[in-house]
Order: sequence, then structure tokens, then C-alpha cells
Amino acid sequence: MKTICPNSTIGVFGSGQLGRMFAIEARKMGYRVHTFSPDSDTPTGQVADIETQGAYDDLDAVRRFAKSVNVVTFEFENVPSATVEAAAEIVDVHPNGEILHITQNRLREKTFLAANGFPVTPFRHINTMDDLRIAVTELGVPCVLKTAGFGYDGKGQSKITTHHDIEAAFQTLDGHEAVIEAFVDFEKEVSVVCARNQNGNFAHFGVIENEHAHHILDISFAPAFIAESVFHEAIEIARSVTETLNYVGTLCVELFLTRNEKLLINELAPRPHNSGHLTFDACVTSQFEQQLRAVCGLPLGSTEFYRPAAMANLLGNIWENGEPDWADALKLPDVKLHLYGKIEPRKGRKMGHLTAIANSAEAAVELVRRARSEL
Ligand code: AMP
Repeated sequence: MKTICPNSTIGVFGSGQLGRMFAIEARKMGYRVHTFSPDSDTPTGQVADIETQGAYDDLDAVRRFAKSVNVVTFEFENVPSATVEAAAEIVDVHPNGEILHITQNRLREKTFLAANGFPVTPFRHINTMDDLRIAVTELGVPCVLKTAGFGYDGKGQSKITTHHDIEAAFQTLDGHEAVIEAFVDFEKEVSVVCARNQNGNFAHFGVIENEHAHHILDISFAPAFIAESVFHEAIEIARSVTETLNYVGTLCVELFLTRNEKLLINELAPRPHNSGHLTFDACVTSQFEQQLRAVCGLPLGSTEFYRPAAMANLLGNIWENGEPDWADALKLPDVKLHLYGKIEPRKGRKMGHLTAIANSAEAAVELVRRARSEL
């Protein structure tokens, strides 16, 4: 195993909040960080040693970037495959390009998961209106149509409730390839954030419970309120996914827990995940430090929680009446504020989050909601 030591430079494709928190952890441990993305003055760039603004398809710029770093990782999985391949000719990229290729497309991801025996919702590949008509008949309603590529936070999704919705739903695809999946009447959504290093060591942060609002993650808390058998099954699914992919880095497995206690994988995120942000304040090692350790060939850190925790996202909406009153939220001493340095607080844009630590997950959720309402 090649160890990348402190003082080396980690290259990061993407420049959002995930890269920012990764960079904070990397710099804490004495690494340098170089971020590459099409933007400037970014959440990651503000913290990194070097911020390169370049197009992902400018492969000469990508190669120059790759030559300037000791290893590359990413915080944004929609980096084009050709970009990652160009970098990988020069320097190691973790997780590798093949994993990125699978996980950046819902169809490839679901096909991979189903082929390897992982539990997923029944799905069909959609290219034409006829495909969609047949699939809706086979899967039944309601079902959810999703573009195969470039989807997140419910973008590119439409729910089909009756056969009359088919045509309008198909039009929203605008010619793009899609998948349709049966609607899951889930009891709750949970995730397993975990990491695997080059030696095959695996570590996980237990099971985190997630609540969404308007398809965007709203609240996460840990530990999840689930049966022990569900906990073990969720961890085993995550471990097995990392093994099957020969994964190196931090991975999030998002799962539905059905009303009859069955787990189904909704999707994989090949990077730190919003539901794992609470690990930053609540655990001995955060999901970001774990990513760093994994890609640098270091031993993974302890994922032990100091105390139960809850996280509440801060979307641009709360800036509607001007700058929120941060001091009011921070009057609660067990609440931590994270802001991502984004200048423009657009509606629905993830601007930051709050984490609360308490003696139970229930109390942490109550505290973090209270803190957010103070804003
Ligand atoms: P996604 O972008 O696929 O993670 O979807 C965002 C959110 O939409 C999920 O976290 C769920 O709350 C909801 N959702 C997506 N797919 C389904 C489904 N097949 N059944 C029920 N809810 C879904």
C-alpha cells in the first residue's frame, strides 16, 4: 500500500461544501489541498491551498492539475469519465474511475446492484414512450421516473400516479435516457456512511436516519431508531458493496426501510454525504478525515460517537428576510454552526448546517430543530 504522507498535496475534483470539509480535515493533518472545478471563490477553494478554475473537459488543464498533486479524490461524482481517466494516467484516483462511472448513472448503478444480488426497488430502463407505457403496466402505479444521469436532490424526477401522467412525465425527460422504479411506501429512510482503505479495512458510522423535505435532505440523526437486526443487515449491505466495488474512500449507501422491515438500496454516493455531516462534530473521526485516510493509504480512524447527534440543513430560504441571527442559534451551547462560504443564498441551495449533540438522538433532533427555528 502506497502511503501519501502529510505535506503531500491532495487533488480534489469539485469545489462544494463536501470538498470544503474534506480540505479542513486535510489541512488539520498537515496536507495541502488543490481543488479543480469550473468555478472560482468556491466553498472548497476558500479553504484549499490552491484553487484551479478549469473546465472538466479541458484535459490539458486536468493533466497539469494531476501532475501537481500526489493523489486525486472527488467530492462531486458528476466529473466526466474522460476527466478522471486523464488524471488517472498520471496519479492514483480514489475511488477509481470505474466506480465513478457506475455511480454517476442511476441505470448503471441499479443494474450493477441488482446483478450482484443487492436489494433494490424493481426498475426498468426507459428510452421511448412505449418503454414507459410497458414499464408502468408491469411495475404498477405509483412509480417514479428518473433521468439516468446527473440527478440529485430529486432533480430530474417525476412521480407517475395514474396512466394519464405517462405522456407528461416522458416529456420532462427531454430526450434523456431514464429509469423508472416502483414507488416505495417506506417507513423511513436511512443511510450507512462507511469507508474502506487499500488494505480492505472497513469502518462504518452505524445507521443514520434521514428526513427529507421537498426531496432535499432536511434532518439526519444518529443512531437511527431501528431494530438491531435491521442495523446489522444495513451494515452488511454497505460492507458488501464496498467489497464488491473494491472501494477505496468514503461511501454512502442510501436505503429505504419498508414497512415490513426490508431494506432496499435507493442510491450510492461515492464520497462523503450530507447525512454524514454530523460525524464532523459527533465522532472521533469524521467522514471527511476517513476519506483522507483511505485515499492516502493510512489506517482508518475510530468511528465512535462521543454522543448521539442530529444535523439540520440550512437552505438559502432562511435568508429570505436577510442574514439569519446566528447568535440566537448559538445560544444553545451544544449546537455547532457550519457555513459553506457561499455568497448567493438561492432558494433550496445548501448554505450550511447545524449539528446538535445530546444524550439521545431524540433530544438532539429536538435541539437542532429548536436552534434552526431561532434563526
Ligand atoms: P433520489 O434523488 O433518488 O435520492 O431521491 C430523492 C428522494 O426522493 C429520496 O430520498 C426519497 O425521499 C424520494 N424517492 C426517490 N425514489 C423513490 C421511490 N422509488 N419511492 C419513494 N420515494 C422515492
